[in-house]
Amino acid sequence: MSTIATRLLDNYVGGAWTPAAAATEALDVANPATGEVLARVPLSGRADLDAAVAAARAALPEWRAVSVPERARRLFALREGLSARHEDLARSVTTEMGKTIGDARAEVARMIEMVEAACAIPTTMQGRVLEDVSRGIDAETIRQPVGVCAAIAPFNFPAMVPFWFLPFAIGCGNTFVLKPSEQVPLTQQIAFEVLDAIGLPPGVVNLVNGGREIVEGILEHPGIDAVSFVGSAPVAKLVYEGAARTGKRVQALGGAKNHMVVMPDAVIGRTVDGIVGSAFGAAGQRCMAGSVVVTVGEAHERLMKPLVEATRALHVGDGLTDTTEVGPVVSCAARDRILEWIDRGERDGATVVVDGRAPAGDLAEGGAFVGPTILDGVTPEMAIAREEVFGPVLTIVRAGSLDEATAIVNGSRFGNGTSIFTESGAAVRRYRHEVEAGMVGVNIGVAAPVAFFPFSGWKDSFLGDLHAHGPDAVEFFTKKKTVTSRWLSDGQGHGSYFVER
Ligand code: NAD
Repeated sequence: MSTIATRLLDNYVGGAWTPAAAATEALDVANPATGEVLARVPLSGRADLDAAVAAARAALPEWRAVSVPERARRLFALREGLSARHEDLARSVTTEMGKTIGDARAEVARMIEMVEAACAIPTTMQGRVLEDVSRGIDAETIRQPVGVCAAIAPFNFPAMVPFWFLPFAIGCGNTFVLKPSEQVPLTQQIAFEVLDAIGLPPGVVNLVNGGREIVEGILEHPGIDAVSFVGSAPVAKLVYEGAARTGKRVQALGGAKNHMVVMPDAVIGRTVDGIVGSAFGAAGQRCMAGSVVVTVGEAHERLMKPLVEATRALHVGDGLTDTTEVGPVVSCAARDRILEWIDRGERDGATVVVDGRAPAGDLAEGGAFVGPTILDGVTPEMAIAREEVFGPVLTIVRAGSLDEATAIVNGSRFGNGTSIFTESGAAVRRYRHEVEAGMVGVNIGVAAPVAFFPFSGWKDSFLGDLHAHGPDAVEFFTKKKTVTSRWLSDGQGHGSYFVER
């Protein structure tokens, strides 16, 4: 164990790095490629959360009074600061979460893109006015900050997901409390070093490390006005209900089971690339990962051989090594859960055509590796076709027609993302019209929207009405106030009051 391994992480409260004084426990943060302990994360207590919320509330009047263009300038500085630390952030993501360094760099690029989208706040936060809603009477809607906003993040995007919320929230004049995933708390320490350096008033952004107790504290806290959550479907439901119970504004993004429909006329080479990237990128630990391929008619025969070959050729290893294409999953516990899913799929009657249960390569003994796996002959009723596995496991289901494929996709309780691979515009038109999912890719494997569009999952993949980033972010992080006004003098400056018009 190196000296750095003993580092106990601090919270960031009221503009200063602060020990989690009320923590009674701390967890190891390990590199999933090696098992090496990188640091220890405190499980903060309620008093630590109280301190962060108090700092955020105290900062609210001053921050709200900073002009909107000036708030945008701080976001420009944030963008520059994050860009200067791009590689540090990416290496941190790979080291604590496992995804390949290329994937991590792309994640950080998307994190920075969120800040760029939020820089437009002087335009996007504008209200609307209608003159003469009645004779001599005008109506206008203005937008004001909601107050203290909290975000609770998952492990799979340590850099990006907190930034689906933070830049938009503070750009709109709110103050902010972040609880990162206790599995991957290190990357946000770097992000908060950058935030610390851009001259925000103390208390505008706060970081509280912890787990379930802090989540429950956020939901119950009278000093918090809005909650953004990203994580698994059961916890999303809990957060949605808990926040509603205490009257908070809430958006809760949950789990997923994303289908990729392959039509007989698909361009097979590019389709295989799309499927492989979608299913096995980040070792399948993306909420937009494609985990079920639905082949239509003869697409199955055309697709399977090249898909199996491309999957077998993937190189599993430490994400920091340039040649690695599939890194470890986040922890040994996650690995064991995923292996159990593969066993269960096989027991239920699926055929394991690519078996990643004992991946080859130069893999550290303490690493949490599962190789890319494909199960064919899966039926829509099998648990492996219905539940989120969240690992590098792809299942293949056959359908006879596009309508049958659509019915299979729509039979899922999730509705995050889906893709269709075809050259037929008519098939695409039919599918995008009929499918019950909020994000659709056409000949694209992972159709995660860029920052300027909302991340718009449906069904059990999302609880709430306003989605993350894009125009929805400004809607979520502002309250509307509508003013109806008339003026009773003649406006000539002669003090001729009460002149009827
Ligand atoms: P998770 O639900 O286990 O944890 C998410 C957060 O909730 C963490 O901060 C954790 O501390 C907290 N938490 C966990 N259990 C809790 C409990 N019982 N009570 C209160 N708080 C609790 O999710 P995860 O494993 O970190 O992340 C993976 C999941 O997130 C997957 O299901 C994935 O699909 C989902 N996800 C969804 C999206 C999306 O946009 N819909 C994006 C990324 C990840």
